[in-house]
Amino acid sequence: MHNSSDVIVIGGGINGVSAAFHLAKSGASVTLLEKDFIAGGPTGRSGAIIRQHYSNTVTARMALHSLQVWRNFDQVVGGDPGFTPTGFMIGVRPEDVEGLKANIALQQSVGIRTQFVTPAEMREIEPQLNTEGLGGGAYEPDGGYCDPPAAANAFARAAQRLGAAIHTGVTATQIRTQGSKVLGVETTAGFFPANAVLVAAGPWSPGLLHRLGIEVPIIAARVKIGLFRRPQEFERQCIWGDFIHQFYTRPETGGLMLVGSLSPKEVEDRVQNPDNFGENVEMDVLAEYMERVAARYPAMERGHLAGNYASLYDITPDWHAIIDALPGYDNLYILAGGSGHGFKLAPASGEMAARLILHGKTPEDDVNLFAFDRFAAGKLITGRYAYSLLG
Ligand SMILES: Cc1cc2nc3c(=O)[nH]c(=O)nc-3n(C[C@H](O)[C@H](O)[C@H](O)COP(=O)(O)OP(=O)(O)OC[C@H]3O[C@@H](n4cnc5c(N)ncnc54)[C@H](O)[C@@H]3O)c2cc1C
Repeated sequence: MHNSSDVIVIGGGINGVSAAFHLAKSGASVTLLEKDFIAGGPTGRSGAIIRQHYSNTVTARMALHSLQVWRNFDQVVGGDPGFTPTGFMIGVRPEDVEGLKANIALQQSVGIRTQFVTPAEMREIEPQLNTEGLGGGAYEPDGGYCDPPAAANAFARAAQRLGAAIHTGVTATQIRTQGSKVLGVETTAGFFPANAVLVAAGPWSPGLLHRLGIEVPIIAARVKIGLFRRPQEFERQCIWGDFIHQFYTRPETGGLMLVGSLSPKEVEDRVQNPDNFGENVEMDVLAEYMERVAARYPAMERGHLAGNYASLYDITPDWHAIIDALPGYDNLYILAGGSGHGFKLAPASGEMAARLILHGKTPEDDVNLFAFDRFAAGKLITGRYAYSLLG
């Protein structure tokens, strides 16, 4: 039998390692169990775009706080998450401009550096952009993206420096309980006792908790990424989210452009088993991405396909995470359901989960927004406009 810990974290994605770091920083003894390797799941495939465009004050504040962590990672956590500043811009139809402006005002009210931009201003920021059909956009000069495996490993190493034990290649097979008390975790490497358990197992979380009779409303959905080589004259690229052609793109190293879908319909391609899904993207999907990209960036007529992969979103009914204690047990918690936008928020989400486990919550706590029972109570998180993928 292994030594007992204050908290076991199941899952070495960005949320698990951030929670482990914040728990260890608060003085708790922590064991993290990861079945593959750190960032071996969806985290390692993440676009890892760091933007602050959110539609409620709690998530906007979390995004702002997390951006500050990503930008100052070496001082705050230690190590290098590969944060690359590029700027972030989204574009909307003329009829969505008013909603966008209200959203920008909300973000500015919490201290986010963001501004409304006209199509002409958008072309100044991103000269390659064809702004046809756009009524305007939002521009965040501080936006950028991380290197997700580097970021997750940096958090894990920082947690280790604070005393956390990180076990990779160890699968949690069962959470052992006695009455309403969690005793620890059965694994492929034996039993790990603990005073509390945090499930941060992404799309695998419902399967683990189903065995305890807890039904978690998270689905696994297969999402598809295309990588396209930019022509030489298209050197610099800002991150771009397009609500007309329904795609997002960011630069990738080696002169590449990473492209994914912004259509909720397209990304709700549900898979039953997160261990078994097609990791190669279909050619017709890639051809469709290429058409959308070329409609917005005419220079990409001369681009070409350089690679692809599919991974999983863990999606809740309102496209926001669950960060809460789980019903029926005194010491069982969840941090999962990032719904395709959980990477950037992980510094804040991990800190909230650690605080919840170590200190409980007050009625005013921001973490209440992410309550487990909000779905049953019909209190879904809603934004000011219907771009669910942006939260
Ligand atoms: C293609 C793609 C693009 C994305 N783009 C962005 C973006 O631009 N910006 C953004 O903010 N977010 C983005 N996201 C979402 C973001 O990446 C996720 O919300 C986040 O990475 C989820 O992290 P996690 O730690 O919650 O879960 P995961 O990354 O799913 O990690 C869970 C871990 O648990 C482990 N595990 C599972 N079961 C067990 C078990 N029984 N025992 C031990 N270990 C177990 C898994 O191996 C896995 O490593 C994207 C996601 C994808 C897939």
